[in-house]
Amino acid sequence: MTAMLARDIADRRVSLQIRVRGRVQGVGFRPTVWRFAREYRLDGEVLNDGEGVLIRVSGPRGEIERLVERLRGEPPLLAAIEAIELSPFVGRLDEGFRIVESAAGEARTEISPDAGICAACAAEALDPFSRRYRYPFTNCTHCGPRLTIVRGIPYDRASTTMAPYPLCADCAAEYSEPADRRFHAEPIACHACGPKARLVRFDGRAVSYEQHSMLDDVDAAMSLIQKGEIVAIKALGGYQLACDATRADAVARLRQLKRRDRKPFALMARDMDVIRKYCAVSSEEEQALRSAAAPIVLLDAPGPQYLPESVAPGMSTLGFMLPSTPLHVLLFRRMGRPVVMTSGNLSDEPQVTDDAQAAARLGMIAPFALIHDRDIANRVDDSVVRLTAGKVRVLRRARGHAPASIRLPRGFETAPQILAFGPEMKATFCLVKDGRAVLSQHQGDLEDAATFDDYRKNLALFRDLFDHQPQALACDMHPEYVSGKLARERAQAQQLPLVEVQHHHAHIAACLAENGRPLDAPPVLGIALDGLGFGARTDMRGGGIWGGEFLLCDYRRFERLGTFKPVAMPGGAQASREPWRNLYAHLMAEMGWAQFAMNFGELEIFRALAGKPRATLDAIIKGGVNSPPASSCGRLFDAVAAALGICFERQAYEGEAAMRLEAMVCRKTMVEEGDELAYPLAIPNLKGSGLPYVEPVAMWNAILGDLVLRAPVGVMAARFHKGLANVLVAMALKLARRAGETGPRFETVALSGGCFHNRVLLEETTRRLEEKEFEVLTHAEVPAGDGGVALGQAAIAAAHCMDAGITRQEGGNPCVSVFQDGS
Ligand SMILES: [Zn+2]
Ligand SMILES: [Zn+2]
Repeated sequence: MTAMLARDIADRRVSLQIRVRGRVQGVGFRPTVWRFAREYRLDGEVLNDGEGVLIRVSGPRGEIERLVERLRGEPPLLAAIEAIELSPFVGRLDEGFRIVESAAGEARTEISPDAGICAACAAEALDPFSRRYRYPFTNCTHCGPRLTIVRGIPYDRASTTMAPYPLCADCAAEYSEPADRRFHAEPIACHACGPKARLVRFDGRAVSYEQHSMLDDVDAAMSLIQKGEIVAIKALGGYQLACDATRADAVARLRQLKRRDRKPFALMARDMDVIRKYCAVSSEEEQALRSAAAPIVLLDAPGPQYLPESVAPGMSTLGFMLPSTPLHVLLFRRMGRPVVMTSGNLSDEPQVTDDAQAAARLGMIAPFALIHDRDIANRVDDSVVRLTAGKVRVLRRARGHAPASIRLPRGFETAPQILAFGPEMKATFCLVKDGRAVLSQHQGDLEDAATFDDYRKNLALFRDLFDHQPQALACDMHPEYVSGKLARERAQAQQLPLVEVQHHHAHIAACLAENGRPLDAPPVLGIALDGLGFGARTDMRGGGIWGGEFLLCDYRRFERLGTFKPVAMPGGAQASREPWRNLYAHLMAEMGWAQFAMNFGELEIFRALAGKPRATLDAIIKGGVNSPPASSCGRLFDAVAAALGICFERQAYEGEAAMRLEAMVCRKTMVEEGDELAYPLAIPNLKGSGLPYVEPVAMWNAILGDLVLRAPVGVMAARFHKGLANVLVAMALKLARRAGETGPRFETVALSGGCFHNRVLLEETTRRLEEKEFEVLTHAEVPAGDGGVALGQAAIAAAHCMDAGITRQEGGNPCVSVFQDGS
């Protein structure tokens, strides 16, 4: 092609329709298109509709191509483009370029997650010459609150907690100017028109301070923290409690008053320089810290400086976040030390969001509170992420992530609308609509009545926000989960099909869905390792509690090919809290007391176990009374942690023993010691069912032998993790070949369940499986733990529904009226 011909083609006027899919609504996409289109002197219009953003444009072909390139290269900060599709447009376009307002009802704007303050807003809030200098609610299209302030749809100011604050003339001008970065940003405000922050005492007495030495109440609040006070802060998705993390006295007082024994506290620091004094930070971790989601990032904490042990007892990591709201940016302006920034609640209650509640619940902990008069519509906790095997993995999916939707894999395009109620601990729920899944923010443990109330409120909110009308429901098959009970009630009341999903099948399905595994892809080997889940009914005879499972599965069905050794949990739920009980049960199952006494009588753990009520324990184990056998990997971790003297008596929080065991792992041993010293775990077959299982007897002998030899705990922890990874791979290899057949039954292994939040285990298992040429699927965007289960339930229910002929209904769903109970 000659240059002249090319120029000719580029100059030729055309009319095109450009469809943009992805997260493109409510993020300033239309004004960005408008700006670029005007730059290139194109005619046409841009609008939001049910499928995303639609651009109709007319002008020289070359200029339109440049527009598309610009959109790809410089999309708005919070946008995530999935596809841009071009097609010819036939029709008339007026001269000039305009933004078309959405007609009521025809298009709905998807609610985006809350986003951390952008650089431009942070600069404004710190600029003495800006009209938003030190304004704690500064935001724009590219940042600020969303889910935390929304009460209903459509998403505009009137349906948020900013409704009581009409825009002043200056803010209104910004709001209606397409060239302004605050164009159509619903929660914008300023000193003149918006909410204000103030420092109060919970006992009602006045706060007085030397005006000349502080800039404002926000500044004064940090001065109190610097003096060693605990201050409650009304943050974005709930109240927080803050104290100086370098002051052991303040941290200890906070632990005592909040009744939180040992669970690690999250920290906030002004900038990366402060964090680097305490933690090693890779570029991926820095990126995560600075991302719009602004999560807590778990970082290795090798120094050079140390914080008091009470900040994160027994951990080798610290959870840091950067200030992500203008309030926090202003608060931290003069603070060069890390601050404990933990959820404002007592013990296991949900984070407080309500001002009256705050005074009642937090007044005993914090004498001072930095409050403001914008209501928190929805409780949204901080998200937690960790870099593992080169990827940032979400461990708790909440602020900044929810309610972003996940596109379901190929084959789910015609899935009906589904509501999956999730598990009971670390609960989330999940909606399926239009081929996408929306996972709620982390709700917490539903056993707690206040948390369950909040969960029900959020079900109703998400129904409204997403105009969701479920055609089927899904829940865990555990008969006692409150989420499952609610699902069964609703299914009955509303005559909807209910799919009850096995817990570990759901874990694996979540992993498949997150990784885009198509509906009709061949089955994978799912390795689901966690604390406890209700086993499938067919297996009740052998013991109903699962937690270390090898499932050949796809979305539709699973076959249990292997398991961990079922070992009694003496005392039932008590065994989940007290690691020594699992140690005792394991040792009794493997060698009995006489042999243990004879060979290992000089060990500290022998003396500790001898002091327990053994007769009672033996009786309940033998009689099977309140002592269910469980094939749980989580309980195996507890037992090993107890043997190594880590968290022997009682876990102060769920997962403590396993987390501390991981924290003890000696890196040098991991790298330098050969596999021959890894603890051996064998794979015999269970009597009766013939199911292959992970048998730990040789491991126990090796651990006890190492204890006799006084091997360092870090070395033993490393040998345990290696041994466990080895046996997972050995099991995968064994199961991959069916006797008498050639070729593997599966080529892909999916790893899920809370045990895979363990970085050492996930990295070791993944690497070893890949060495054996398995394709390995792991979690990243969705938690491997119970926080991801709802997604799996939803995908499994969708597959079952489509098989049963229940599919997506176009144009609404008039025959189904749901949630009539108004919850
Ligand atoms: Zn901004
Ligand atoms: Zn204003």
